[in-house]
Amino acid sequence: MNGLMMNYQLTLPTLMKRAETLHGKKQIITRQPDKSLHRYTYTDFALRTKKLSVALQQLGVMPGDRVATLCWNHYQHLEIYFGVPSFGGVLHTLNLRLSPDDLEYIVNHAEDKVIIVDQVLLPLFDKFKSKINVKHVIVIPNAGQPIPEGTLNYEEVIASSDERKYIPFEGDENTAAAMCYTSGTTGKPKGVLYSHRSIVLHSMVSAYAEGLSITEADVVLPVVPMFHVNAWGLPFTCTMLGSTIVFPGPYLDPISLLELVEKERVTITAGVPTIWLGILNVLDATPGKYNLSALRSMIVGGSAAPRSMIKSFQERHGLSILHAWGMTETSPLGSIGILNSEIQKENIELRYDYRAKQGVPVAFVEIRGRNEDGLIPWDGKTMGELEIRGPWIASAYYNSPEQDDKFTEDGWFRTGDIVTLDDKGYIEIKDRSKDVIKSGGEWISSVALEGALMGHPAVAEAAVFAIPDEKWAERPMACIVLKEGKTATREELKKFLEPLFAKFWLPDAYEFVKEIPKTSVGKFKKSVLREQFNTYKA
Ligand code: AMP
Repeated sequence: MNGLMMNYQLTLPTLMKRAETLHGKKQIITRQPDKSLHRYTYTDFALRTKKLSVALQQLGVMPGDRVATLCWNHYQHLEIYFGVPSFGGVLHTLNLRLSPDDLEYIVNHAEDKVIIVDQVLLPLFDKFKSKINVKHVIVIPNAGQPIPEGTLNYEEVIASSDERKYIPFEGDENTAAAMCYTSGTTGKPKGVLYSHRSIVLHSMVSAYAEGLSITEADVVLPVVPMFHVNAWGLPFTCTMLGSTIVFPGPYLDPISLLELVEKERVTITAGVPTIWLGILNVLDATPGKYNLSALRSMIVGGSAAPRSMIKSFQERHGLSILHAWGMTETSPLGSIGILNSEIQKENIELRYDYRAKQGVPVAFVEIRGRNEDGLIPWDGKTMGELEIRGPWIASAYYNSPEQDDKFTEDGWFRTGDIVTLDDKGYIEIKDRSKDVIKSGGEWISSVALEGALMGHPAVAEAAVFAIPDEKWAERPMACIVLKEGKTATREELKKFLEPLFAKFWLPDAYEFVKEIPKTSVGKFKKSVLREQFNTYKA
């Protein structure tokens, strides 16, 4: 017997409609390339988004067509986030930190029909534009500057359109709405295709109290780029709720961000650990300079948030980090580092231990771990690859049948992350499978060693990776960036780690470097270090 409930489709236009109907006066604020702040309301946003939707269709964009964006975080990007899926088109965000070769590959693989580019990013676009075949190039103009011949002006495209012709998409909720290519460091980028339904469900669970805990009253600053897993879904979640959104535009340096948090009384921000490590340094160097009293949650994901960073923010600045784990393939929210009622009663150091883990899976996300012996026990010790399933987890990569082995026969996604699972369901990421160090048949977690090293008072950043070893096959090596004006020797670092790890885990070599190479989304690029130190003798 079927239930007697409406078959209401979960589509993105319904999120915008809610913001427009209930929260029309709430603001969306953007720092523009000239550093001035642009402000408008959800009413303005909905009007312009409808115009964009109509205009794109008049330009010949059809349902199912991909519309690429090469943009920073700003209000026009939010309009495109909704304007494209609102008629059944597919929003395709391009990572502006990728190489021109990768961008060319991605645009051609996705067969994008239109590309919308920030004028400030035209120098990057110029490097691959001759190798792609899009029907229209639309430029988001930079304060009155003329745009190149042969391109369309985003503002004129909107101005010339009639919002009364807007018809929101009300078709099948499983229709594709957005796509994003992974920024993997090995092999070609792979396309992940989100549906209206997956984004709506992900928004609901992101918002709930045991997720990112966002409400209408929040002022949310997504530092995470809109080209990186849809800024972790925040533009959709915030619009659904009517939260105030503050977009940082191209200014992601610690001082610009701190000024924005102070001025707009931001309550929630989100970004990768390297952003927060930079902010922590500024706060330590200028205690009391910024009034961050409104800030109640700093969401950190993308790489492991070091325990020492979580503790330093809390104890020195009264700021609370919320640790989350996810992937492009998981929309991204998979697990969240909240403390359950049992752990909340534990002593403070144990609570920090738990906050540094990647947390428990959110509702509707199921997890399990596997190694060569089969499914791993939830004992907090045995390591295995994390497998995951749920309504916003990819079931395949776009047009890439050669990648089908990333999915199990019984329908789970193989994350490539090496984890332990404990009896309370907490996940701890030990490594990417390609980064884990295999020494004499045992696995050594580079993430655990890095987290510990970054707890040393002189260490700003630490990356640990495998170097070849005749006897043990692989041994760990650490590259260290020291904090400005601080010193530490190899011996000191070794002594610092000794009480924390088994002896065979301790790195054989330490090298002091100016910076750690980073990927396009701000993670340590260990493949470069492995190559660089391939013949290193400790
Ligand atoms: P991406 O698809 O670029 O977002 O990268 C996803 C990968 O980032 C995951 O598979 C993890 O290896 C890593 N990652 C994401 N969040 C965390 C976290 N909180 N702690 C450790 N690693 C993380």
